[in-house]
Amino acid sequence: MTAIALSHLTKSYPRQATPALADVSLAAEPGTLLALLGASGSGKSTLLKLIAGVEAPDSGEITFDGRSILRVPAHRRGAVLMFQKAYLFPFLSVAENIAFGLRVQGASRATIQAEVRRMLALVELPGIEHKRPAQLSGGEQQRVALARALVTRPRVLLLDEPFSSLDPTVRQTLQEAVRRIQGELGITTLLVTHDRGEALAMADRVALIERGEVLACDTPRRLFERPPTCRAARLMGVTTFLRGELAGGWLQSRLGALAVCGPSPREGRATYAIRPEQIRLRCLPGPNALPARILAQTFRGELSEYVLQVGDATLRVQAFQPVAIPAGGELFVELPPEHLFPVCDDEASSERPL
Ligand code: ADP
Repeated sequence: MTAIALSHLTKSYPRQATPALADVSLAAEPGTLLALLGASGSGKSTLLKLIAGVEAPDSGEITFDGRSILRVPAHRRGAVLMFQKAYLFPFLSVAENIAFGLRVQGASRATIQAEVRRMLALVELPGIEHKRPAQLSGGEQQRVALARALVTRPRVLLLDEPFSSLDPTVRQTLQEAVRRIQGELGITTLLVTHDRGEALAMADRVALIERGEVLACDTPRRLFERPPTCRAARLMGVTTFLRGELAGGWLQSRLGALAVCGPSPREGRATYAIRPEQIRLRCLPGPNALPARILAQTFRGELSEYVLQVGDATLRVQAFQPVAIPAGGELFVELPPEHLFPVCDDEASSERPL
């Protein structure tokens, strides 16, 4: 099992005003899955290309098990890339596609046959050796691509949005299959995705990437529940931030005093955040509850989304129990102190905070 370490990586492309990656440092423990989560254009694929050897960094270091791989040619790094599209050879059978890497290595016929069978069992597609890629569904093609990537027993698996062209059910089954196989083989894996749910469900650790920078890297649960900064929190779906003066367990925001609890930063200027599903809607006033008016509501099945006017600010709430108040109606939003958490304010506060 291989440990990957990236330190101070910077990469600029010609004719681009800003670097695709700026001083990125990250580590993946042996046998774990690290997800790189960020919007399109944030530099995630560039990071995979640097590891795979498709691109070279301007500066910085990449090591596998403590040894630099920067001077090792791409085909000797033991890192395989898998993309959104399977890119199988259309005129070769499934078996020939999977066998390709082993043939290049000069493996014997018997080894190739045994390995192809083993890989097809691993990706749960036994008995399709003779089919052509065109006869397979999108999900099956990705499984074959995975088998082809893994047959040479690489040290590192690099997945670049491999599920994003699949429909939701197939995507989920394939996510589960990749996670199982990754765990069984103990192969250190980096997964690039812009899908928060996918990163949270699959990864041991998630790195949040924005505009070529790593904003935070932690376990899915910690990043979801307590993202450390405003920018990290936004990437995790938080939209409510309260800035104010903190004194004696109270945050004096421009909407009034709100109780906060738990370990708090030092007194003085502070910013707190709350997840949209932790904000409660209530018909009556109460502690930490602010008067609000419903601007819009959207039914989304298991939950309903509300846009509320609170003072001169708008606030987004996700409620599992819809309220029986029409748009324009008045109610209260409760911000429970135990769900308000401090964040380091790393944004230029162009928006008006609460
Ligand atoms: P992501 O994978 O997060 O979508 P990328 O790593 O593909 O992001 O791209 C990061 C930035 O680098 C983007 O602004 C993109 O336009 C730019 N970029 C990527 N590849 C190239 C290239 N070959 N030449 C020039 N610019 C590129």
